[in-house]
Amino acid sequence: MNKLTFDITYSSDSSSKGERYSLTLKDVDGRDSVVLELNKEQFSLIESRRMRSFYVRCKKERILQDIDDAANYMELEAIARKYYLCDACAFNDINLYGVKRMLKVIVDVLYKYPKLRSRLCFIGTHHEMEKLIVQMEQGNVDALNKFNLQYICTKENAEKLGGMVHKMLTDVIANHKQYIAMAICAFGLFDAVLLDKNDYNGYAYLKCISQLRQSEAIGFHPKECYTPESVVYHELGHLLDEMCNFSEMKSFKEYHESKSAKEIKKGLSTYALESRREFVAEAFAEFMCNPAPRKIANETCEMLNLAYLSSTMCNG
Ligand SMILES: [Zn+2]
Repeated sequence: MNKLTFDITYSSDSSSKGERYSLTLKDVDGRDSVVLELNKEQFSLIESRRMRSFYVRCKKERILQDIDDAANYMELEAIARKYYLCDACAFNDINLYGVKRMLKVIVDVLYKYPKLRSRLCFIGTHHEMEKLIVQMEQGNVDALNKFNLQYICTKENAEKLGGMVHKMLTDVIANHKQYIAMAICAFGLFDAVLLDKNDYNGYAYLKCISQLRQSEAIGFHPKECYTPESVVYHELGHLLDEMCNFSEMKSFKEYHESKSAKEIKKGLSTYALESRREFVAEAFAEFMCNPAPRKIANETCEMLNLAYLSSTMCNG
């Protein structure tokens, strides 16, 4: 599972003079944790960061056209900044064509699910994200600015957070030798769509694409999910799931339990058998890529869309 999660607990203590807040971040296995002491303003900024939405200010086609017209990675980074698609991005070491394909998927999903913007803190290679995180760990303020965390994190907190994220990022990368895209879920602070630069170069890219075709043909991935785009949809499905807490919802758990392994394999994909989260990501990929999504993808995404809408209402 391409995932890195913070388990998070807030606590506030208003008994002492002034209000004090702290944020405890734990990694998925609970092996590691950091406690950040925050003031009231920083605390509310973190909450509002998690409720950000993509601001639609032009037709989707215009952004897609700009992406098509971009001549180099710098122009693509400028487009991501201009339309505010993410906080930080770095496309310098990835194949231009691959980045364009990925960005178009991100734009497509942001127009349908604008609140997902709150989870797009970084887009680019893990090498570049690692560089930024290492800078943060060293207390570099520029790196904080790039993530738009300058008003949320003190230098001291940045060093703590950087250290933790760096360690987790190293673990995740070590466990994924080959991938086209990977989602990092990190509490709306460092959530990312990562690309592997090694997979976007010439022959390796073509090889990945042909492997995807094979995987789809044998039902390992859902119907019509045989392109690099479908991989990005799958990863964005993870971010959406995480944002709405969908795969932990009672209604979805019941739906998931009602399906036998055989039904899942036949009606969605073999990979969907891995876990509830992979089931959701696979269903989302099929829903977005298959012009005629099958029953499981339709039913799952109908529920996911409801969860998305209610998360919008709850979060204002
Ligand atoms: Zn996945």
